[in-house]
Amino acid sequence: MSSVAFHGYRIGTNNRTVQVFSAGRRCAEPDCRTTLSIYNSQDHCSVHKRPSKPGRNRATRMPEH
Ligand SMILES: [Zn+2]
Repeated sequence: MSSVAFHGYRIGTNNRTVQVFSAGRRCAEPDCRTTLSIYNSQDHCSVHKRPSKPGRNRATRMPEH
């Protein structure tokens, strides 16, 4: 009989909340060759990243009479 047991180990026992992403990711822009940092959670580099908060919504322009 097999006595193999799973010991449910945890990776990173320091309770750190640092989230590391896969290395070697490229910017989502087709023409951009910027390699993203492993700490960058976004799909775009700092140049092509999109603003997280839309400050001014220009799409809601009122039709002028
Ligand atoms: Zn880019």
